Amino acid sequence: MTFITATAPVATNSHGGRAKCLQRLVRLELPVPKTVALSFAEVHRIAGGEMPDMDALLAPFESDAIVCVRPSSEDPDWGGPGAILNIGMNDARHASLSDQIGARAANGLYARFIQSYSVNVARLDPDTFDDMDYQAADICRQLLDAYEDEAEEPFPQSRADQLAGVLRSMARAWEGTSARLLRQAKGAPADAGLGLVVQEMVLGLGHGECGSGVLQLVNSTTGLPQITGRYLSQSQGREALETGAALFLERDSRGPSLQETVPEAFEELKAHAALMRIRLRAEMQIEFTIESGNVHILDGVRVQRSSRAAVRIAVRLAKDGIIPKQEALIRVEPRALSELLHRQVDPEAQRDVIATGIAASPGAATGKIVFSAAEAQASAARGEACVLVRRETNPEDIRGMHDASALLTERGGITSHAAVIGRGLGVPCVVGASSLRFQLRKRALIAPDGRVFREGETITIDGTEGQILAGEPAMLEATLDDSFQTLMAWADEERDIDVRANADTPADAQTARNFNANGIGLCRTEHMFFEADRLTVMREMIFADASDDRRSAIEQLLPMQRDDFTKLFRIMQGQPVCIRLFDPPLHEFLPTDRAGLRDLAEALNLPLSVVTRRADALGEYNPMLGMRGVRLGITVPEIYDMQARAIFEATIAASRDGDPIVPEIMIPLVSAKREVELVKTRIDAVAAAVRTEQGTDFDYRLGVMVETPRAALRAEDIAPHCHFFSFGTNDLTQMTYGLSRDDAGRFMSTYVRQGVFPEDPFHTLDADGVGELLKLGAQRGRAAQPDLTLSVCGEHGGSPESIAFCRKIGIDYVSCSPFRVPVARLAAAQLAILDKIG
Ligand code: PEP
Ligand code: MG
Repeated sequence: MTFITATAPVATNSHGGRAKCLQRLVRLELPVPKTVALSFAEVHRIAGGEMPDMDALLAPFESDAIVCVRPSSEDPDWGGPGAILNIGMNDARHASLSDQIGARAANGLYARFIQSYSVNVARLDPDTFDDMDYQAADICRQLLDAYEDEAEEPFPQSRADQLAGVLRSMARAWEGTSARLLRQAKGAPADAGLGLVVQEMVLGLGHGECGSGVLQLVNSTTGLPQITGRYLSQSQGREALETGAALFLERDSRGPSLQETVPEAFEELKAHAALMRIRLRAEMQIEFTIESGNVHILDGVRVQRSSRAAVRIAVRLAKDGIIPKQEALIRVEPRALSELLHRQVDPEAQRDVIATGIAASPGAATGKIVFSAAEAQASAARGEACVLVRRETNPEDIRGMHDASALLTERGGITSHAAVIGRGLGVPCVVGASSLRFQLRKRALIAPDGRVFREGETITIDGTEGQILAGEPAMLEATLDDSFQTLMAWADEERDIDVRANADTPADAQTARNFNANGIGLCRTEHMFFEADRLTVMREMIFADASDDRRSAIEQLLPMQRDDFTKLFRIMQGQPVCIRLFDPPLHEFLPTDRAGLRDLAEALNLPLSVVTRRADALGEYNPMLGMRGVRLGITVPEIYDMQARAIFEATIAASRDGDPIVPEIMIPLVSAKREVELVKTRIDAVAAAVRTEQGTDFDYRLGVMVETPRAALRAEDIAPHCHFFSFGTNDLTQMTYGLSRDDAGRFMSTYVRQGVFPEDPFHTLDADGVGELLKLGAQRGRAAQPDLTLSVCGEHGGSPESIAFCRKIGIDYVSCSPFRVPVARLAAAQLAILDKIG
């Protein structure tokens, strides 16, 4: 046990954060009551039944001092047992205090202690004390009788016995299984220790101005400077926060304040708080007591903060010269940034959770339930927000997905279609919500508790938490304020890996630019073909019998694609743009139901039977491993020829009004060198033709997506034909595990819960397996082609853990959904800083 003085050996990793903070306050010569700290080791021994020498523990305190015990874990966020106040109150002390400070105040102190001792130490049922009149003159006697009845023993009168009981119960509570699981969920290690501090009480009750309260210098929601907190006369602990009767601190139009009532104490507290901010290098919340007009500081804890406040607080501390910029960057959790980029459910709002699923795209949105993409479009046309609910989405739903405020699917995982598109659009999305019954024909969702939500009813999707909520809870708007921009600029000064965005449309590209991406790392061109006018031409192309017919359809697609690419190049203003050639199986473009097939038959002027037969013929048992990507490029080469031409013509057009553009063209799903040779020959030929036709020269870079295990293994054969490799970790994970990215959601949570996988590998890169292929591919590729640019463009590109791995193996850039770009920029900066400072 250690009596806390300015020089006593107290450390956060042995005595916990609270003990260390109290020592800092002592060093600042603030009015802190006497405190003794018990280390993690001592508390662990107490839990095992080995009590410290109680006389020695109590020696620093006056013989009649009342004390309290508070928890002191290493990280305050890991929680701990609640504080127990007024230890030392007994019949004799009650009598003497009644004389000194009045019977009412003495009753308050003793009653509080009897009650918390009974519940927390003797483990009596809290109901025992229901229906008691706490204003009654004999309340203590009533409580003592109730205790004696239930516990079948007299209430302990010795302070040492009381304290021993409190210490034992707090130590054991910490080591219980449920408390351990709870803190592990908050990131605590399994063997995290608990320290305890025993502190002399300054009674907030008695004659003169007595009371307690909390104070902080910033608003916890906005992070803006504002003195916030409450003070309550004749109170203890945090009671001031629990009643409407408490005073404001600063003068306030809503009611009386401490500033007006006890101005000297208010000024003194303000000065202490300002000193703590500077010397503790953090925004702190102070717990204080006033006794006969004198201020005492009992405790200081880091101010609770929203993500928005976290950014503002870190930036202000750095701008005020209290912490360096690098530390400000380290203090903000990268994932918290995504809360700033999206609307969120107000943390104060009531949540009526209907069901949960996989949190696939962050942010929250409210809307009326619709069950088809067409209804989503209709709803948007009426100006009504809607939530698009599907078993799973497919490319045909894309327009409706654009128009929906949020997406909800029964199936799918973190890289399924709805998830990828949701993140790309910045639309909140929950997938794999299989605990809900999706009754699509009846147009209803049935919650696990039996409630039915029908088409047109309002629900809210919280894609940050993975929750589906009934109704419309209050929201906090997204805000990209100055502090955010400042923090991002500081991050860019530090980071040593580029961050590009996956962007398919001009709107995505604009978002990418707004978030300062270093270019586009993946443009999935197939997403450009789902506009209604293009889809019909696409279908004509797919159904063309003769090469001539196909060519005529493709000629119609060419100007559309050229226009798409010109726009992307112009928006990106000379930043690199990497365009992936057509990837998905063709049948994804065909209608999936009878009505759609009939419409198509009409448009093509073909009998329904022919259209149906041809659509069936294009179907595959396993389309993700079938005729897609480069395999399509080789068997139907006209598509890639058209895309290459569109890219080159757009290059010339966009270069006219700016710096020359060097487009990057990427071939998907490669597994053999010969595939690259064949495609490269044709693309070179298209480039030569365009150069001749237009009389203009240009450069381009050709690369492949390494997303099959074989491409990684044979990287040495493939690299000599390439300027770059981009690891498509979505497909690479799918193929390395032999695990369908669209179906894994069904059992992933069971797998993670049972520890088969530490995490969903589609979410966090599997460094051991998939990562090994990345390492091999990178080494072998660079061995054959030292200038090879390497990147990762799967969804992992935006996750901080994956970025750490990518930096280690020499990846030049990561590319992720535009809305994850800021998260990736900050994560990359933190990694660079941690490397620099060791
Ligand atoms: C990938 O497979 O990692 C990838 C980026 O491509 P897609 O998600 O479009 O298959
Ligand atoms: Mg892929």
